[in-house]
Amino acid sequence: MRLVIMGPPGAGKGTQAAMIAEEFSIPHVSTGDIFRKNLKEGTPLGLKAKEYMNKGLLVPDETVVAIVKDRLSDEDCKNGFLLDGFPRTVAQAEALDGVLTDMDMQIDYVLSIDVPKEVLVERAVGRRVCTSCGVTYHVKYNSPSREGLCDACGSELIQREDDREETVARRIEVYLKQTKPLIAYYSEKGLLISIDGGQGIKEVGVQIVKALEK
Ligand code: ADP
Ligand code: AMP
Repeated sequence: MRLVIMGPPGAGKGTQAAMIAEEFSIPHVSTGDIFRKNLKEGTPLGLKAKEYMNKGLLVPDETVVAIVKDRLSDEDCKNGFLLDGFPRTVAQAEALDGVLTDMDMQIDYVLSIDVPKEVLVERAVGRRVCTSCGVTYHVKYNSPSREGLCDACGSELIQREDDREETVARRIEVYLKQTKPLIAYYSEKGLLISIDGGQGIKEVGVQIVKALEK
């Protein structure tokens, strides 16, 4: 299965993507995670991406498209993948169509997670991520068993630099302007599945699995 999961920042894409990847045995390809890994390793790509990420802006299309193209050519993507956080502009979506056509592939479904704006800020600001394995928690809705420590590996949890309230507001604006038009783009292609993301983590997961198993 070849999937895209989209939605505003804090909608729950990464949380649901981890579940879907396991359920359907496909790799979870998150462009945000790729940038954060590069930033942690201090690569030129990571340093370039940081300039945009910390301001809540999008990394330029050509940079992101090149990374995704490269990643999709890996062996583990041959039988499917789940793209999380990509595409984020119509230009990226068109580029993705081109890349997949060249590989004789196409997207099966695009999951769009809808969440009211006021909920997004609370979710993103309360997000905590593991500095070592990247697992995501929430201070209120998905808290670890020991405060500030990852259940999976015991490492420290931190707030992402771009999850401060003012940056989250900017990221939501960027989503509305640059990414939301993709809903119409994929709807016209008949690929869109809208998911009510305003429910709890488990309930949203059940909706997604039901929709994909249809
Ligand atoms: P995204 O990848 O869309 O930015 P995440 O999956 O990282 O969003 O979720 C943002 C925050 O909200 C995380 O702290 C996560 O634990 C929490 N979260 C995700 N889905 C839900 C939900 N359905 N209800 C409550 N909190 C959620
Ligand atoms: P995410 O982890 O998906 O919330 O992404 C974090 C940040 O990485 C975004 O706010 C952007 O700065 C950058 N980023 C991730 N994916 C993309 C993309 N497809 N296009 C442009 N920038 C991206």
